[in-house]
Amino acid sequence: MSLQPAARTVGFKPGERNVFFHLLTACNLSCRHCYINPQQHGTQTVSSETALQWLRLFARKEKQSNLILLGGEPTLHPQLAAIIKAAKAMRYSVTVDTNGFLHHDLLSNITPEELDYLSFSLDGPTPEVNDPIRGDNVFSTCINNIRRAVDAGFSTSLIYTVSGLNIDHLDKMPELLVQLGIQKFFVQVIGLRGNPAQEKSADSWLVDPAKWLDIVPGVAADAASKGLHVIYPKVYLEPEEVFECAGTVAENYFIFPNGRVYQCPLCEDHPIHSFKIEDNTLLHREGLNEDRFFQLSIPEGCVMNKLLQPENIQYFADGTPQHRISCCLLKQEIVPA
Ligand code: SF4
Ligand code: SF4
Repeated sequence: MSLQPAARTVGFKPGERNVFFHLLTACNLSCRHCYINPQQHGTQTVSSETALQWLRLFARKEKQSNLILLGGEPTLHPQLAAIIKAAKAMRYSVTVDTNGFLHHDLLSNITPEELDYLSFSLDGPTPEVNDPIRGDNVFSTCINNIRRAVDAGFSTSLIYTVSGLNIDHLDKMPELLVQLGIQKFFVQVIGLRGNPAQEKSADSWLVDPAKWLDIVPGVAADAASKGLHVIYPKVYLEPEEVFECAGTVAENYFIFPNGRVYQCPLCEDHPIHSFKIEDNTLLHREGLNEDRFFQLSIPEGCVMNKLLQPENIQYFADGTPQHRISCCLLKQEIVPA
């Protein structure tokens, strides 16, 4: 009998800096669960010159930082390849999160050495599951471009956003990823921001704790047994685990085209960002902003989860929470042997 590597919680690492840079909010798709909120995040595209100035604000000469370029759809940015190359020269490791359409012929304009990961999003193992969520013919386009990227030698990963609409199909994903030659599998949990926040009474987006715990860790273990590096959210803390808010112990910056900079993704629908970029300078904002909430300690764990999506907390009859909700940025990881 072979021993499978166990899932481990990836604690927040001192000195690790993650920069999530939304270069634009425009997108060629209209996914049902899209979290982008142009009213809050702006509709402009950050010019390549401004993008480089903003990247310099977060780059460190002495240490690598992690950069994730996002949108909207980041490959709609006509200078994306130049931004990737400039970011590498600033010592960032660079990931591009794409919906799979790869506009502006991205694969021809960068080399696999210039990009650390190209991360594709799919929300189902078949067109029948994926396309009602992400749009007609999205599955086939994304699969074709994953194949092109893998054939060209790019390191690839795939993000699957779990919701009530697709959790029953998650178990089919590991086999598909292996067939495609993808190396990393990120499972995300749906957040009630953007479209789902508007639609939440009409649809059952949320997955209850028992179902999540019944399905997700098992699929992750299966994926790792097939050789995939798997990362999935912690969500529910074990009784002995310590709650930590990334806003107090980690460095995560979520940058939007209108210059808002958040530390917590759950806050992005609200004008409570801790920082803003003005005249290419990073400014801390005073007042009742997200960073005041990070300091609060409650029995339910994450304060913003309790405030913004209390539907996913269940209580015992005496009023104590059945689970503490972890920071949404806390992950579980299984690295294949
Ligand atoms: S691909 Fe991303 S940005 Fe575009 S609609 Fe879908 S979730 Fe929103
Ligand atoms: S998700 Fe919760 S715990 Fe994590 S940074 Fe936001 S407020 Fe803090």
